[in-house]
Amino acid sequence: MWLLTTTPLALLLLLGPSSSPAVEATTSRSAYADCVVTPVTRAVELGEGPHWSHEEQALYFVDIKSSSINRLHVATGKQTSAPIGGASSVDFIVPVVGRPGAFLVAVDLSISEVQWDGEDVSSLTGRALVSVDADKPDNRFNDGKADPAGRLWGGTMGPEPEVGHVVPKQGSLYLFEGQGAALSSQAWLTGVDISNGLAWSADNDTMFYIDTGSNRVDALDYDAATGQIGARRPVFDLIQNNVTGHPDGMTIDRNGNLWVACFDGSQVIHVDPRTRQLLGRVSIPAERVTSVAFGGPQLDVLYVTTSRFGLTPEQLAKQPHAGSVFAVTGLGVSGLPGQSVAYSSV
Ligand code: CA
Repeated sequence: MWLLTTTPLALLLLLGPSSSPAVEATTSRSAYADCVVTPVTRAVELGEGPHWSHEEQALYFVDIKSSSINRLHVATGKQTSAPIGGASSVDFIVPVVGRPGAFLVAVDLSISEVQWDGEDVSSLTGRALVSVDADKPDNRFNDGKADPAGRLWGGTMGPEPEVGHVVPKQGSLYLFEGQGAALSSQAWLTGVDISNGLAWSADNDTMFYIDTGSNRVDALDYDAATGQIGARRPVFDLIQNNVTGHPDGMTIDRNGNLWVACFDGSQVIHVDPRTRQLLGRVSIPAERVTSVAFGGPQLDVLYVTTSRFGLTPEQLAKQPHAGSVFAVTGLGVSGLPGQSVAYSSV
């Protein structure tokens, strides 16, 4: 069985020797001498899914391994957490439009509605609205987001029998629609290794997508009126561009450029999807960079989630803030607030 892996030895086998000089090849392209990278939360195990609520001036994110939803109120620095009872993994959180305290949360293989007041609690219960991958019970959800019209997209990945070893081609990318006690799911992509980053162009006619196993960022034609996706094309290949790490979460800035978290790459890369050029990179003092989102009062802070899960004591000693959310300031660009999901529970 061929396994996708993130362990260093197998990474070399997977990527070949061309990956080794990547740091030197990209360091000189950094254009962010003035940026400052600061840990702004306590470490969690596997931080993921950052979502900026502009109304609340708060960052929501998940810890996949503790099955919790988390909130950072930026002005006060108050960090709160709420585990979802009975969950093996909690994979993304998206607030519901117009209903403060209501969220759609990916729990194992279900999309659940969760009510949370943002305070520390020992356990929350969700109401499952729809489940996917019924024939693959060892899969789990991974990245998900709402499109600019408020439609929820979420993807899955295969089982991970050992840390970093994911059975390939078991995942799918789903669109969720409908209101009330049930959502309907539609699989738009199948045979996905690890469904990950999602972003939409400002004109809303392109969806950007990352299947981590492909080591690429792709673009798909997008019909904003219906949520249908069309022709798919690669826009950036990390191996061809000598970028260290695997593409994970992603966001887009107001210039139409992408910011891509590089898992096991200690960096976020900045890519122009029109010219397919690497514009630069931001070093993060944690290897396992998982996702990114713009936030802050001016939407010019790049929040970066990371993981400490699976790191050895020696690795943790060198990256003591691994698992924290980092704030990158001074980039000179801004993005868009997180998009909430349009969903009525009635
Ligand atoms: Ca991810």
